[in-house]
Amino acid sequence: MKSRRGAKEDAAELVKFLTESAVSLSHTNLPLAREQAALARRVRLRFNVRPDSSLKGFTCRGCKGLIVPGVNARVRLGHGKPTVLRITCADCGHVNRKIIGETYIASEGARKSTS
Ligand SMILES: [Zn+2]
Repeated sequence: MKSRRGAKEDAAELVKFLTESAVSLSHTNLPLAREQAALARRVRLRFNVRPDSSLKGFTCRGCKGLIVPGVNARVRLGHGKPTVLRITCADCGHVNRKIIGETYIASEGARKSTS
C-alpha cells in the first residue's frame, strides 16, 4: 500500500478545496454550498483528515453543517479577556465560541468540557 499516504494528502487537498469552494458559493448558492461542505466532511471522516485550523471556523459544532458568517451565521465579539468570537449558527442555534488571542491553547481543554 504505497499510495496510502498520498491518498490522505490528496484527501486533505480535496477537503480544503471543497470547503473553500463551499464558503465562496454560500453567498450565491447556499444549498449547493451545504452539499459541498457535507461532502468535505465525509471525505474528512473517511480519510481521518484533520481540518485545517483556517477551515475549522466554518463548521458548526452543533449540527456539523457549514456556517458562513454573514450568510447563515451571526458573529458577535465578546468583551474582556480572552477575546471570544461567538458565532451563532442560524440552522441549529448553536453558539460556536472561537477564542482569539494569547490564551488559545488553554481554551482547547476548557472547550471540551463545555460542549
Ligand atoms: Zn448548527
